[in-house]
Amino acid sequence: MQWHMLAANDVAHETKTNVTAGLTATEAEKRLRQFGYNELAEGKATPAIAVFFRQFQDFMVLVLLLATIISAFLGEYVDAVAIVVIVIMNAVLGFIQERRAEKSLAALKQLSAPQAMVLRDGEWVKIQARELVVGDIVKLTSGDRVGADIRLIEANGLEIEESALTGESVPVAKSAAPLLTEQASLGDLHNMAFMGTLVTRGSGVGIVIATGMKTAMGQIATMLEEADAGLTPLQRRLEQLGKILLIVALALTAAVVAVGVVQGHDLYEMFLAGVSLAVAAIPEGLPAIVTVVLALGVQRMIKRNAIVRKLPAVETLGCASVICSDKTGTMTENMMTVTQLWAGGRTFSVSGVGLETDGEFSERNRTVDPHRAPALGRLLTMAVLCNSSELKEQNGRRYVDGDPTEGALLVAAEKAGMKKGELLRDYVIEREFPFDSERKMMTVIVRDRNGRRFSVTKGAPDVLLERATRLEWNGREQALTPAWKEAVEKAVHQMAASALRTIAVAYRPLTDNEKIQSEEEAETRFIFLGVAGMIDPPRPEVKEAVARCKEAGMKTVMITGDHVLTAKAIAKQLGVLPPDGKVMDGATLSRLSVDELEREIDDIYVFARVAPEHKLKIVNAFKRRGHIVAMTGDGVNDAPAIKAADIGVAMGRSGTDVAKEAASLVLLDDNFATIQAAIEEGRNIYENIRKFIRYLLASNVGEILVMLFAMLLALPLPLVPIQILWVNLVTDGLPAMALGLDRPEENVMKRPPRRPDEGVFARGLGWKIISRGFLIGLVTLAAFMTAYERSGHELAYAQTAAFATLVLAQLVHVFDCRCERSIFDRNPLGNGYLVAAVIVSLLLLFVVIYYPPLQTVFHTEPLAALDWLLIVGLSALPTFLFAGSLFTRK
Ligand code: ATP
Repeated sequence: MQWHMLAANDVAHETKTNVTAGLTATEAEKRLRQFGYNELAEGKATPAIAVFFRQFQDFMVLVLLLATIISAFLGEYVDAVAIVVIVIMNAVLGFIQERRAEKSLAALKQLSAPQAMVLRDGEWVKIQARELVVGDIVKLTSGDRVGADIRLIEANGLEIEESALTGESVPVAKSAAPLLTEQASLGDLHNMAFMGTLVTRGSGVGIVIATGMKTAMGQIATMLEEADAGLTPLQRRLEQLGKILLIVALALTAAVVAVGVVQGHDLYEMFLAGVSLAVAAIPEGLPAIVTVVLALGVQRMIKRNAIVRKLPAVETLGCASVICSDKTGTMTENMMTVTQLWAGGRTFSVSGVGLETDGEFSERNRTVDPHRAPALGRLLTMAVLCNSSELKEQNGRRYVDGDPTEGALLVAAEKAGMKKGELLRDYVIEREFPFDSERKMMTVIVRDRNGRRFSVTKGAPDVLLERATRLEWNGREQALTPAWKEAVEKAVHQMAASALRTIAVAYRPLTDNEKIQSEEEAETRFIFLGVAGMIDPPRPEVKEAVARCKEAGMKTVMITGDHVLTAKAIAKQLGVLPPDGKVMDGATLSRLSVDELEREIDDIYVFARVAPEHKLKIVNAFKRRGHIVAMTGDGVNDAPAIKAADIGVAMGRSGTDVAKEAASLVLLDDNFATIQAAIEEGRNIYENIRKFIRYLLASNVGEILVMLFAMLLALPLPLVPIQILWVNLVTDGLPAMALGLDRPEENVMKRPPRRPDEGVFARGLGWKIISRGFLIGLVTLAAFMTAYERSGHELAYAQTAAFATLVLAQLVHVFDCRCERSIFDRNPLGNGYLVAAVIVSLLLLFVVIYYPPLQTVFHTEPLAALDWLLIVGLSALPTFLFAGSLFTRK
């Protein structure tokens, strides 16, 4: 089908759709069932069985399997079977964790999937792009990723970047008219929009003509471009660490085995002991648990309305030292209400709250009938004409379909008895140049009942004032003299200083045949009409969030397109701007070089009247000062800054697809407080990872040392290999996971951000691990020797005592690991998972010691009460030594 050659009507006819009402919901559902989801076939997911077998690819597991084969060969079937069972249990644990991590990451993908605006049953609704069907009428706006192949039937300054398809990175201007060329390449089809391309400017409407694998993208792309999962810096560091530890472990093991053989131990026994020790010492499982903990942390963040799109961001979050945030909608409610109007030299107040249309106009406390104030009436009329939003009602509740700023103007007009629907019977909108934050204006070309044409522009007062030549006053036009200009500026300043957002309205009469092709032609030689001032209350939770960030050593910076005074007033209310803090405006920012900005930037807390392109400069200047920067944004033009920031943050509700794709964090509720919550989680996740590294490695050090000590003292082996395996692969696993789910310590948001180059073992962690491991080794040896003596040199009995001490010492240690300082700083029962995990591990210990069939496997014997007393005492000893901070360096 040559869609590009057909007229719009024919396209609608062919796709059996209605251009004004779209498809019905039932028809859309029918087509969806018939033709399937609008998706590209993805690379096949890894089947569960493959994930399971992947668990056996670990070096450690291979070593174990080798040991099993040798044991079986030597006729040690019990050992062989036990090793196999433990390896399988370990694989099952790993499998479950990996699947869980995978699932939560897949859920994430769903959450940030692109959406599309479609006309269904006569209403514009937002749906998942995967639910689009042929015949859907779709609206495209700047920042959208095109959801399917679309034949355009309307285009307003629409430009689309099609590099994903054509490789050409310069955006292509689009139009709706049919093309005459039969054979055209994709790049020449100016009345089509293709799936996967990006709308960079303007807006348009079109009919879906192909979905899923039938689209141009589907035909050339057999595989989706996979977002690189990427290891986080910590994961990478742990991998390196793993390699070092592997060598150290092998060397130590070799030493233990060599000493053992020299001391006359049995060769096979030493071989198994060596294997078990190697397994004990190599923290192969660490990176896997880290992944799981990251994934679970990401899930927790979703509950707090933050979606992490790139896993490494979880770690970077904890390092953030500067948060640059948009004002409108992120720090404020984005619930605008016009409270003041300035027109023709008079200032009017407007009463009423929110979207309610009861309200009055007054001037110096005296009620004014808006019909008797022509300047006011004209200002409101024009504000309604130059307005792409609508007031709607659903279930008895009013809402703004569109931009809240425009909604506020509509509400103000309704207070004067003017409704958009009624007004539009007398006027025809010929053309629209949509608002963008770069121009800070929006313009429409209008024709009235009597055939008179004019343009109406609304936008930032300073911008409009600069381009205005005349002013309307009392129904008469006059030149905009410097005196008048000053009067307008004064009015704007007054509004802005009381935290009002200001919007000016202007117009220009046009002759019948005056062609307006571009914004530049439309937006000049204005006749200035007046200014509206609207409040946008700060979000109540933001003030506290800003304060918490400050406490946590982070600086909050407000970035806004609004007037300097408006920004300043709100920044003060929110505690963003300290008394000695500075405000910089966009003009100054443009003038400064990055070097100059870098020198000043530490004193600046508010950037006002900035354009999106300025954000990149701000990010770079902060980065050069050595900061880790989070930057929010929503539009196409914000994407470069979002990408350049260490943590790019996009708005989930108001954000464009482009911004979301560039971001590493998406805020579902567009709320600044959510950034703070995400940072808190980020810090906590990192601390939790440190907690279980501390826990697991101390255990490894303890095991190696107890064996080494015994060898050096020419004692028998204090632990049977199978016991070491059991501790490492089973009883340690659950508590370690539970540590990964721990709640934050009270002080996580009371200390400065972590330095990004900080090592895993920083802040005394390495010392804690070694000293604690040393103590665990020592008490285990003590228990072994005492029991050995007391039982009259019964080896299995003494080994059981050592085994129990090792497990118990670890189960006590795990509570220490929850706290940076001493165990007594926190309620030890505060983590329910941990308590449960410890109980399970304890039960497992008892089963292995007291259940006769397992006694043979694990070489254990029931212990006497007195020995239990000793074991419990010895196990708790290191904690008390630590609590006395004997071994703790603060
Ligand atoms: P943020 O704080 O999220 O960066 P902002 O709303 O402060 O965003 P912009 O949206 O770029 O910044 O708005 C800048 C100025 O443009 C506003 O102060 C206002 O005067 C004007 N403006 C905003 N929305 C519109 C609109 N829909 N039509 C015309 N002018 C607008």
